[in-house]
Amino acid sequence: MDVPVQEVIRPATIAEALAALAEREDARPIAGGTDLMVQLRDGRRRAGRLVDLGRLGLAGIRRTRDAIEVGAATTMDAIAASAEIKRSFPALASAARQVGAWPIQCRATLGGNLANGSPAADTAPPLLIAEASVTIASAAGTRRLRVADLFLGPGRTALTPGELVTSVRLPLDEPAPGERVVERFTKVGPRREQVISVVSLAGRAVIRPDGTFALVRLAFGSVAPVPVRALTAERALAGRRPDAAARRDAARAVQDDIAPIDDVRAPARYRRIAAAVLLDRFLQEAARG
Ligand SMILES: Cc1cc2nc3c(=O)[nH]c(=O)nc-3n(C[C@H](O)[C@H](O)[C@H](O)COP(=O)(O)OP(=O)(O)OC[C@H]3O[C@@H](n4cnc5c(N)ncnc54)[C@H](O)[C@@H]3O)c2cc1C
Repeated sequence: MDVPVQEVIRPATIAEALAALAEREDARPIAGGTDLMVQLRDGRRRAGRLVDLGRLGLAGIRRTRDAIEVGAATTMDAIAASAEIKRSFPALASAARQVGAWPIQCRATLGGNLANGSPAADTAPPLLIAEASVTIASAAGTRRLRVADLFLGPGRTALTPGELVTSVRLPLDEPAPGERVVERFTKVGPRREQVISVVSLAGRAVIRPDGTFALVRLAFGSVAPVPVRALTAERALAGRRPDAAARRDAARAVQDDIAPIDDVRAPARYRRIAAAVLLDRFLQEAARG
């Protein structure tokens, strides 16, 4: 394996990790390594120094008064198994359970999934509909960034060298009495399991007792250079019932929200059709409850 790594540092504190990253231009954090090791091997990324995040205490899920905070080094398996996440953010729990297979889920972290910047990152659509934000630390201090502003293009994020994602904050949003919530994550790929998404959808609908939407949020993966919120489709559905007419309008509107390309995994036309199909299925589930 041609990995030109000269040293691996295992700091015990965030301050030490940030110093180790700031010291060398070619330093790069490593969490589970499930993306990075493959990229180093293929020569798609280079790193002279790897800074292992495993001892920093960044793994864990914590409920605060109005949010759930997920540490950046929390694994997909821990997220999928968390009762708090399953109750309040079921689309995220479901997405985490569909990242690769179980051995990958036991290593792959939430921070790594986001920092890798893939348009197919499965946790991104659930985090977009949760209106989540990331906390980022660097030698200069900490900052908070919306997940919606994190992805810049395939493999590119708003993180600058030397910055670490330390946690992800998911604001809790309780429905009003009588309202019901339907939240789902689905992905399409060439097989049922162990695939990078060709199209993925996370949807959250809050339905009033009269059957109309109090809220509908939709986000897609793999249909644009970055994971995207489908705001045009959301507007087409606002305040309506998920009936056949609304579903038809949403299927048309969503085409303005996405910009898929032809690539080795699927042609753009397939992705457009699949996005509309996933959306229609989600809206039918929302109608059924
Ligand atoms: C067989 C296989 C199947 C896969 N299937 C899927 C799938 O179905 N869906 C999916 O979304 N992904 C999939 N992946 C990709 C990968 O497992 C995930 O993206 C995973 O979440 C990456 O996390 P990690 O901890 O392994 O990241 P790493 O590989 O350690 O790091 C990834 C990138 O993020 C940076 N980084 C890591 N942590 C931080 C941090 N806290 N702050 C700043 N930068 C950081 C690293 O420097 C690197 O650039 C698969 C990978 C494999 C090998």
